[in-house]
Amino acid sequence: MRIGFGYDLHKLAKGRKLILGGVLVPSEKGLLGHSDADVLLHAIIDALFGAAGLGDIGEFFPDTDKKYKDISSSILLDKAAKLIKGAKYYINNIDAVIVLEKPKLSKFKKKMAGNIAGVLNIPKGKVNIKAKTNEGLDATGKGMAIAAYVVVCLGEV
Ligand code: MG
Repeated sequence: MRIGFGYDLHKLAKGRKLILGGVLVPSEKGLLGHSDADVLLHAIIDALFGAAGLGDIGEFFPDTDKKYKDISSSILLDKAAKLIKGAKYYINNIDAVIVLEKPKLSKFKKKMAGNIAGVLNIPKGKVNIKAKTNEGLDATGKGMAIAAYVVVCLGEV
């Protein structure tokens, strides 16, 4: 077994859609970024690359490359999954924490997990999504940003 850890943070801004785990979440603000800024999927991709010893998301999908402008991060996750498979690993499980003050994600967490499992072609029960507030403290707590922390466990094929 190999463990991988991923982290990401994006700033919130008006006029952007909020996409988390590939799911459109109704919100007055969305995340800023070169791609769709899906902070959860970016942290998952980094955790996958980390577990496989492949480096990080910026090496594979640089934010200076025009072809990734406004791209759905689900496409990046699919590409990352193929690289993991090509390196002879399978995904045992994924556990994630999204840190945000609002909106509440309770209605969306299952859909995110199902969506992520679908992209990765693994059973839904292998993906667990949690959401936390930062109690009004720091940038995430003040509603200026959303962060995600992810741990994955890969097995060798
Ligand atoms: Mg990112």
